[in-house]
Amino acid sequence: MTEAWPLFALLAIFYVTEGFWWVPASCVCFWSGMRRSFLSAEPIWRHARDSRGVLPPRTLLANGCRYLTQAWPLSISPDGITSGGWSAFEALGGGLPGGRSLAFEDVSELSVSGRRLVLRKQTFALLGSSGAAIDMLKLVRSVARTVPEEREAAIRTALEAGFDRVEVRRRIRRLRCLIRGTRMLPLLVLLNLFVLGPLSVVMIGRGVFWAICLAIHVMLAVPVTIAFVRASRRALAPDAVDRVGVSITLLMFAPATARFLEILSCNLLAGMHPLAVASVVLEEEEFARFARGHILAIRQVQPQDRVQRWFRERLLESIDGLLSRTGLSASRILEAPPREPDAVSYCPRCHAQYRDGPERCADCNGVELKSHETP
Ligand SMILES: [Zn+2]
Repeated sequence: MTEAWPLFALLAIFYVTEGFWWVPASCVCFWSGMRRSFLSAEPIWRHARDSRGVLPPRTLLANGCRYLTQAWPLSISPDGITSGGWSAFEALGGGLPGGRSLAFEDVSELSVSGRRLVLRKQTFALLGSSGAAIDMLKLVRSVARTVPEEREAAIRTALEAGFDRVEVRRRIRRLRCLIRGTRMLPLLVLLNLFVLGPLSVVMIGRGVFWAICLAIHVMLAVPVTIAFVRASRRALAPDAVDRVGVSITLLMFAPATARFLEILSCNLLAGMHPLAVASVVLEEEEFARFARGHILAIRQVQPQDRVQRWFRERLLESIDGLLSRTGLSASRILEAPPREPDAVSYCPRCHAQYRDGPERCADCNGVELKSHETP
């Protein structure tokens, strides 16, 4: 058993590190456990001007889906393209205002390198996956090919597509159908790896242990790999550019096999705006809180760049449209919360209420508090 310990320790480290994702700082993740309710999470360890952050795992058991979403990391108007995204993080100082501009005539200079859109050897925009980067480039090129007088309509249509709640529901439903019956597999893989494995070494010796553990792992990993291949063929795993590589990893590398639900679902909703996803998967109160943060952040930015200015207005229109489809409105979401006894101020973003003293919210990265007295 002593000789097997380093192996188990290594596998455990690999398993935990597989759960940490290194993503663009503007990404938002929606996580669901065995129950159907969702939680939203944003990368941690990110600072203004940093382009990436770390998404930690929500649970060590990896028994749920994790959907990675991102607002467009650039602005498009009929006049051109400007880098710099419109997530709450970027609007609050991570990327806007200011950005690199690109005319439609020069779009051929834009290329994809992994998860990046590259312009003249420099990163123009960072996406959540290589599949999302390819889709973004296709979108930009398609707008550039459109005749100038029809570009506005083309941009509005593309933007609206990211706010399509029906499409969000459709993709989630298709994935759920596909993985029906496999929800318990991550737990079984873990059980084989970290319970049955060590026990077998103690009770029956190493030689037999390898054979048993490997046989059980293959029995579990085959349906996982089949589910991944089927999902990528049906475009439910859009980052399946390297379908063979991911399949081999899922089949052979137990820590990845145990996290297959997360691997399978991470790019399912690529291209959909985080607010559209939030409106579908979050409870109403949680969605209102989430939307409040985004709207306040975007309204707060007054970009000098006219492409960003134009795009910001269209984005706010799309958000208003989304809210009205959910029976809400921006003014209702931004209303002051009912005043609590002794409270003199509240955070306009998270609605935490404060007694006399603090001027900024402790939870919202220093957002200035509003007084209950002033309307
Ligand atoms: Zn707050």
